Amino acid sequence: MKPPRWFHYLLLPCWAIILAFQPAWAPGQANPNLLLISIDTLRADHLGSYGYRSVTPALDHLAGEGVVFEQVYTPVPLTLPAHTSLFTGRNPPATGIRENGEVLPSSVPTLAEQMQAQGFQTAAFIGAFILDRRFGLARGFDQYWGEFPLHRYAGADPSTIQIRGDQVQAAASQWIADHGPHRFFVFVHFYDLHGPYLLPASWRARFPGRFYDGEIAYVDDLIGKLWEDLVRQGVANRTLLVITADHGEGLGEHGEQNHGFLLYRSTTHVPLIIRFPDRRYAGKRINTIVRLIDIAPTVCALLGVPSPPSFQGRNLAPDISGQVRPALPAYSETLYSYRHFHTAPIYALRDNQYTFIQAPRPELYEFRKDPVELHDLIHTNQAIANNLRGDLENLLASMAHGPQAAPASAEVLEQLKSLGYVGPASLSRGQPPFDFSLPDPKDRISLYRQFQKVLEFENKGDTRTAAIGLERIAASDPALVMVQIEAGLARQILHEDALAVKDFRAALRVDPENALAHFDLGVTLGNLHRLPEASRELELATKLQPSNSRAYTVLGITRAQQGELIAAIDSFDRALAIDPIDFDALLNRGNLHFMLREWEKGRDDLQRALALEPNAASAHQALGTMEFYQGDLDGAMKEYRKALDLSPRSSKAHSNLGLLYRKLGRNADAAAEFQRALTLDPNNNEALEGLQHTPETSK
Ligand SMILES: [Zn+2]
Repeated sequence: MKPPRWFHYLLLPCWAIILAFQPAWAPGQANPNLLLISIDTLRADHLGSYGYRSVTPALDHLAGEGVVFEQVYTPVPLTLPAHTSLFTGRNPPATGIRENGEVLPSSVPTLAEQMQAQGFQTAAFIGAFILDRRFGLARGFDQYWGEFPLHRYAGADPSTIQIRGDQVQAAASQWIADHGPHRFFVFVHFYDLHGPYLLPASWRARFPGRFYDGEIAYVDDLIGKLWEDLVRQGVANRTLLVITADHGEGLGEHGEQNHGFLLYRSTTHVPLIIRFPDRRYAGKRINTIVRLIDIAPTVCALLGVPSPPSFQGRNLAPDISGQVRPALPAYSETLYSYRHFHTAPIYALRDNQYTFIQAPRPELYEFRKDPVELHDLIHTNQAIANNLRGDLENLLASMAHGPQAAPASAEVLEQLKSLGYVGPASLSRGQPPFDFSLPDPKDRISLYRQFQKVLEFENKGDTRTAAIGLERIAASDPALVMVQIEAGLARQILHEDALAVKDFRAALRVDPENALAHFDLGVTLGNLHRLPEASRELELATKLQPSNSRAYTVLGITRAQQGELIAAIDSFDRALAIDPIDFDALLNRGNLHFMLREWEKGRDDLQRALALEPNAASAHQALGTMEFYQGDLDGAMKEYRKALDLSPRSSKAHSNLGLLYRKLGRNADAAAEFQRALTLDPNNNEALEGLQHTPETSK
């Protein structure tokens, strides 16, 4: 294979690269810590230190004390893939993580593992479920803070499940206070700039109609607090501070409101600030293009930690210490629109001057002169475009052997076939080829915007308008998988499950390996009491996406409803192995253990469930019944009363209490409870029978 033609980028005379390497930091001298902060969704050009009207006094102050890299690019404008590249120093084709929801193979080394192996205490504070430990980035962290109780978000878009920045900051500050004397690596992730905005009201009032800037100001304030805590504890002058972002935000540029669909600078240009413990190089600005994948090898070099050979990024320490080197081009990609909106996949390569975007209609911009990338030079500068295209193709070819998302097994493919999912070839889960017969994402951005606008109806509670709008968009192109799935979810919310089934099946005809569509279809079939079919779909969902704990939980419930108790327990075990705080899995497994007379296991599960949701009447009910059967009538009374306090209109709660009163010989009280239960639900058989068999009333 031909080597990549990087020499095109040697814009500087050769003597530059033979300058002796001067370490920017004397390794081991002061044993500094590392504090790495990722401000999710932060465009570089919205910081004062990058030329914006100042809403970021704390960050600008820190930038003034550190080195500012002015041209930094993410390899992918999506949260999990970008953070994976940040932590592994590899581009997405070489990590295998191209989209949110995938799992980093354990064979790819991470920055945290390197730091941990060198004796650093390591902790991460995560602001969004998208980076949950199940996706593989927790590897190497002693503590990975951030709990996301998914059972409270049934049906929610996973990207909206988040923890507000003040809690993230408080947890990180506390950990550092507790561990300060030890050498540490702390990663802090603020998700607040990512919609939906949870900005506190006082901040909203200060930024009317400018919530993105308001969120930036809010996170700036939190970072100021975090840093003040380090200063107060005397830790700041022993800590290397690195601040960056995973991607930017479209804010309407090029028709893109958010990020992930296109590859312009609006969503790929991110900040990078490196502040040394002794403020060495304060005020230095580096304008050469660098990449998010360069951060891991750079911090390793600055801290005297060896970089594993798997890191593909470049150590930037020589640039910091003043060495002038030729830039390496920055690769970017997004497969989001390809996988969900039936477009071609797109790729970009930026050298130190130009942006080339490989798409059905390729584009070329001179971003140094045209930072918003409005003046396409593809027809006037063809030689430059051709060179960049060649380099991009070589780079992609060189990464083609990276870890791929595991392809569906033969068994799964056979199962899909037996269920009638034999549509066109499934969307490639690996490296999709350039396919110029597919629509260009830039020609679909208005359709995508329309899709987002329709979804807003759902957020405002007008689910019917949303469902109709989504189905209308889906009708324009049956291959709009994401639109079909969202339409189905809207029908599910409207309890129109038969229509939901149609929508999910339409999505699966185009993309038979879509785990989400199988999961949603399984849930809907369960609602329709078509249990064997539901089980089959949910099983497929777990096989296609083994990190989906909720698919295991719903599969367990469906199996239990079919009387397959042992198989159901196995499903709950698997759910809880991925997500130990899944309330539904704990409650249902507890009930099953109880039915199998496995008292201790049952009690343990129910108590764990109640620790998560102390006000869950269903769990108090279940625990009370278990106490009742075991003869602890006082314990049962306590739990039943609590359940009734929480859920006074539950017929079942009243009939349970009735049974307990009868056991205690308080027949009048028992009869009264059975009567109340029947008033609430005349078909409550337990109450009917109870009333018949309670002595005072059965004359
Ligand atoms: Zn993000």
